Amino acid sequence: MNPSLKGQIALVTGADSGIGRGVAQELAKAGAKVVINYAHNHDAADDTVKDIIADGGEAFAIQADVSHEDEVKAMFAQILDKYETIDILVNNAGLQKDSKFVDMTLEDWNTVININLTGQFLCSREAAKEFIRRGVVEERSRAAGKIICMSSVHEVIPWAGHVNYAASKGGISMFMKSIAQELAPHKIRVVGIGPGAIQTPINKSAWETPEALDKLLTLIPYNRIGKPADIGQLAAWLASDQADYITGTTIFMDGGMTLYPGFADNG
Ligand code: NAD
Repeated sequence: MNPSLKGQIALVTGADSGIGRGVAQELAKAGAKVVINYAHNHDAADDTVKDIIADGGEAFAIQADVSHEDEVKAMFAQILDKYETIDILVNNAGLQKDSKFVDMTLEDWNTVININLTGQFLCSREAAKEFIRRGVVEERSRAAGKIICMSSVHEVIPWAGHVNYAASKGGISMFMKSIAQELAPHKIRVVGIGPGAIQTPINKSAWETPEALDKLLTLIPYNRIGKPADIGQLAAWLASDQADYITGTTIFMDGGMTLYPGFADNG
């Protein structure tokens, strides 16, 4: 049976591109009304909205930088004004600013932590306030609200040259678990998704040439790159009542990237 999110309101951050876009599309297919958050690219957000509407769904776009408290608060105020409540938050917005550790600037460290980690804090806090205020409404869902935190295999796999990114994802893991523990008595579920290599603009250099893709596939036992729809379908299921007993854990969706593929030939 397909997961149903009928009548529920969802916010997906960074939904104008890549995984966020795939998640928004799958939530809409499951019946949710989806708010498409974007930072700068209005046209791309508009395209996502149009695609969802063409597919029979409902969506609208809101511009907000998730690392800015005032913009996040204004975004939630706009959502509550339009729909009166919210049921699902997908904390997806994220970026990389890569460099060798000794060359990493404080600015690049702060940018990645502020968007990838603090952005999840700011959005989750606003969502949790509304979930607690409204409580469980059985016709909507068995939970008062669902928060999905987009992490990465790099919440457990160290990543030289990407220290700010890996630290942000490791931080998301403990952030997700701690708020899951605190919010469970309010019937709020908090879950992480740890994607492996998913074909999006963030990692284009890793799949855009056959040579790069071949090298990438040596890290993926299942021998294919993931697609945004893979993650989108998982997010829709995790947000649904079919996953009602899951909270405080990360589900890795990575074609086996976390299986130490270097040991496949006896190490
Ligand atoms: P992407 O570059 O296609 O999308 C990133 C999204 O984040 C964009 O929509 C962008 O507008 C948004 N964003 C960036 N800064 C923002 C800000 N300040 N405020 C609001 N939105 C902002 O990349 P993606 O691969 O789709 O990445 C999405 C998430 O998935 C990220 O958190 C990333 O770390 C995670 N992830 C991706 C992969 C992968 O292989 N693609 C693997 C593991 C985790």
